[in-house]
Amino acid sequence: MRGVVLHAPRDVRVEEREDPRILLPTDAIIRLSATCVCGSDLWPYRGIETVHGPSPMGHEYVGVVQEVGSEVREIKPGQFVVGSFFASDNTCPICRAGYQSSCVHREPVGGLGSQAEYLRVPLADGTLVATPDPPPDDLVPALLAASDVLGTGWFGAVAAEVGPGKTVAVVGDGAVGLLAVLAARQLGAERVIAVSRHEPRQKLATHYGATDIVTERGDDGVARIKDLTDGLGAHSVIEAVGTQESMLQAIRSTRAGGHVGYVGVAHGVELPGEELFFSHVHLHGGPAPVRRFLPELIDLIYKREIDPGRVFDLTLPLDQAAEGYRAMDERRAIKVLLNP
Ligand SMILES: [Zn+2]
Repeated sequence: MRGVVLHAPRDVRVEEREDPRILLPTDAIIRLSATCVCGSDLWPYRGIETVHGPSPMGHEYVGVVQEVGSEVREIKPGQFVVGSFFASDNTCPICRAGYQSSCVHREPVGGLGSQAEYLRVPLADGTLVATPDPPPDDLVPALLAASDVLGTGWFGAVAAEVGPGKTVAVVGDGAVGLLAVLAARQLGAERVIAVSRHEPRQKLATHYGATDIVTERGDDGVARIKDLTDGLGAHSVIEAVGTQESMLQAIRSTRAGGHVGYVGVAHGVELPGEELFFSHVHLHGGPAPVRRFLPELIDLIYKREIDPGRVFDLTLPLDQAAEGYRAMDERRAIKVLLNP
């Protein structure tokens, strides 16, 4: 089959990879209907994360089940399924508490590489959620968004304790940040402040329900958010970047007693303990347990109450994956959908 392999920073190739097959009786093989490039794929692409030899890429996926192992009971060949970036059993105490991305049996899907024609999904019954029917083509991008960016933005909002009447700020205008705006509105936020300097992204944030746009970053951004909130800061702040600057902007934009939901993969973030101590801010985040939210998100998508697929502003055939990475790296595209 064809699949994306990162050989070295900025060296993305689509090449022949071995067809995946069932290795464990709990596995399933799916044929990808769509896949995509993630903001987190840019860390190794830019050389900020070390690339250890040729690496299959991709951890977002929707597709049709081709084959299941002998111990798979719920998932059946022919079903259209959505999964996320950690395979999980969905039965251990950590999964049952809603933290499937820390499942005691978790397996990262990124190492298996979903930017390809086929994918082996471990722990199929726990990991995959089947849609009620095969989706119409126009819902496929939305379901693919649920696989990571929507589920991650949603977790950011839940972790930040977003709720009715609250003022929410979102730091980061990538796909996760934009969908965190959508999540915040769905969860009842009264006011949503999006931090973005890019006009197309500001427009999409407004489409998803942002009521205010802040263009400043760092401490200037903090000052703007304080201005908009009677000097107090937001009740809930979602951090969707993962840098020192964005994390401090998020914490400093939160009012005393408020909550930060941090879902940007942290790179080089170090928090000042004394400032944290006196801030009275709650911090919760990490790799999103997308599996917890998938049934609800699929339902909202099928009812057409949300349209998270709009974050895909560039669609390319899988063979042009290298151009997809370039477009995201240069911020010419918010998120790139790849058609296998
Ligand atoms: Zn588990």
